[in-house]
Amino acid sequence: MDNMLRSAVLSVAGNRAVRSFFRKYGMRLGVARFVASEQLEAALDVVLRLNRQGLMVTLDYLGESVTDRALAEEAADQAVLTLRRIAERKLNANVSVKLTQLGLTIDPAFCESMMSRILDEAARTGNFVRIDMEDSSVVQATVDLFEKLLKRYGPKRVGLVLQAYLYRTQADRERLGSQGVNVRIVKGAYKEPKEVAFPRKKDVDANYVRLVEAHLAQGCYTAVATHDEAIIKQTIHYARKKGISPERFEFQMLYGIAGELQLRLVRDGYRVRVYTPFGEAWYPYFTRRIAERPANLWFVLKGMFRA
Ligand SMILES: Cc1cc2nc3c(=O)[nH]c(=O)nc-3n(C[C@H](O)[C@H](O)[C@H](O)COP(=O)(O)OP(=O)(O)OC[C@H]3O[C@@H](n4cnc5c(N)ncnc54)[C@H](O)[C@@H]3O)c2cc1C
Repeated sequence: MDNMLRSAVLSVAGNRAVRSFFRKYGMRLGVARFVASEQLEAALDVVLRLNRQGLMVTLDYLGESVTDRALAEEAADQAVLTLRRIAERKLNANVSVKLTQLGLTIDPAFCESMMSRILDEAARTGNFVRIDMEDSSVVQATVDLFEKLLKRYGPKRVGLVLQAYLYRTQADRERLGSQGVNVRIVKGAYKEPKEVAFPRKKDVDANYVRLVEAHLAQGCYTAVATHDEAIIKQTIHYARKKGISPERFEFQMLYGIAGELQLRLVRDGYRVRVYTPFGEAWYPYFTRRIAERPANLWFVLKGMFRA
């Protein structure tokens, strides 16, 4: 049922009329709950506010599925600028990127050169860049390019996201775990066929826990990215039982979601990082947030009546 609802929301969101309506009125209709700002400097002010609450941040310049080299170059420039401004303002934040925003589907070699620009700046400023994982049509290409970059820059500079809903992820995790990769584990946000992904939420959740425990057991830094309190509790329990220090992992949550839980974990001594998107191309990101929890549509509807 959950998955059916999620697929339905993602299909409606693809409709051209719905898309253009939201592009026009979205920021007023509640998008601002999930997106820090359309501008970098204002987003950095949000980072400062979060840092003061004890939260770390990963900044994401919104955009994906770029088919134009100039747009991919612009996204790479934004990521470089973001890293530079984080260092200049001495913020506790790193950067997340999507390879399809950096030209992966245009030409992987071009995308690699965009990533090199970004990772050179990360090396210069002593920071870290995480590659988000997108839909299953680009997972192999993303893993391939990540492994190339890993050889050049090492696991302190670049990390990857793995999705618990994919059957292939156990094998990917084992291979990356043996190379000491810093992995963010998520459930997975895209509409995927049953040939590649577990259709039942119960199986995704069970796989998620297996992946987190295996990555921690292997001694790798693990980003546990979920708002699922049962999984968060289970992770804390596992780490305590195995004597794994809270320095060896972090919880990650999305900007605008479960704020109370984020602060409670900080008070309890855990590392928490808030995935904070900014920029004008927020539509696909926003629709995935609605699809995960259709109740979020209430925020949109309330915004409509206020507008
Ligand atoms: C930091 C971070 C980075 C991510 N990066 C990626 C990525 O690179 N690739 C990818 O495919 N996916 C990514 N995701 C999304 C992820 O795959 C899930 O779609 C998303 O996290 C929702 O699942 P959940 O783990 O919170 O568990 P769920 O079981 O879906 O939710 C658990 C509880 O969290 C709350 N919740 C969940 N979603 C929402 C929401 N949208 N609004 C309000 N409450 C909500 C609800 O109370 C729900 O009961 C990321 C998620 C996070 C937190």
